[in-house]
Amino acid sequence: MENVSQIELLAQRPPVQAALRSFYTRQQEIVELIIAIQQIPAPTFAEAERAAYMEQRFAGLGLADVAQDGLHNVYGRFPGHSPTATPLVISAHLDTVFPANTDLTVQRKDSLIYGPGIGDNSAGLAGLLTLAQTLRDFALRPAADIWFVANVGEEGMGDLRGMRAVVERFGPGALYIVLEGGLYGQICHQAIGVRRFRLDVSGPGGHSWGSFGATSAIHVLGRIIAAIADLQAPQTPRTTYNVGLIEGGTSINSIAQKASLWLDLRSEDAGALRQLEANVNKVVQEVVAKFPETAVAMHLVGDRPAGKIPRQTPLVSWAEAALQHVSQETITYMTGSTDTNIPLSQGIPSVCIGLTRTGHAHRLDEYLDTTFLPQGLSQLLLLTLTAAGF
Ligand SMILES: [Zn+2]
Repeated sequence: MENVSQIELLAQRPPVQAALRSFYTRQQEIVELIIAIQQIPAPTFAEAERAAYMEQRFAGLGLADVAQDGLHNVYGRFPGHSPTATPLVISAHLDTVFPANTDLTVQRKDSLIYGPGIGDNSAGLAGLLTLAQTLRDFALRPAADIWFVANVGEEGMGDLRGMRAVVERFGPGALYIVLEGGLYGQICHQAIGVRRFRLDVSGPGGHSWGSFGATSAIHVLGRIIAAIADLQAPQTPRTTYNVGLIEGGTSINSIAQKASLWLDLRSEDAGALRQLEANVNKVVQEVVAKFPETAVAMHLVGDRPAGKIPRQTPLVSWAEAALQHVSQETITYMTGSTDTNIPLSQGIPSVCIGLTRTGHAHRLDEYLDTTFLPQGLSQLLLLTLTAAGF
């Protein structure tokens, strides 16, 4: 395999060897950096404090053009030596799923560190800083500019708004690497599409005894949910639906005037996702047609586009070869919903890789296994140097 030998040769160059070794000697320091980032709350839509920290660290590392945009995406450039080389954008999301008042105390048990957001994505952000520091300290200067980006809005209702702005800024003429703290051993070059809706039902309502017979928004909502649950979704391409949240009504003895549901539709394939959405619309209209006193409104509240690039794309092959160099384990090709959705949906070369193993993501007892950090950082460095032309 040509790419393997390319990576092998790269890894044998003395300054690269020294840099790779440093990930093992600096492991404890890197762990402390991860915890320092994790201690700063950063719920989606409230990332400013963590963004300010990253901006200050970018500047401290001597990156050029350090700045935030209006969304609190933070940018910094490690200058390449060839102005015509394809720039490389390396990003990690700032936000977490945890509200601002979450107890962020960490606990250590052997190689594991427990704490909300420790892996997703404090480890990814620490990876950005560690990589920038390593390039500087070992004087590894590739041809291309490397843009380090700590971006907002990856989780929940953030709807990838941070990454949308990043890809708008650098456009299709860049390569994109997305860092996720917990995906070590996995490579993502295929993004699933996600469409999310809030569906509001309204009706006349009334007293449960006195107005019995009037249409209830809750009863209609229940029929809509049952109709959605009866839909067939293809297994290939994998396509799913979920009503994840409902609310509505006034009291136990009121016929409900309002009721809502939150619906999450996903597919590996954009066409299958459109078909599923059309099927949902059809059954909703069928139910509503039976209850002329009710009105239904469906609002799009999330839209993460599907997309993929071929596994033979150089960026993907380099990520594979770099992972093979640092580990003998089999590579998992993850299909997911990450910041790579944005470039992948536009056919722009992009890959998401991980830095270590984590567990219980999006839970308060989330943990990170520090064991794999040196390997994860080694994969990242080798991929970065190859992609940026060292
Ligand atoms: Zn994440």
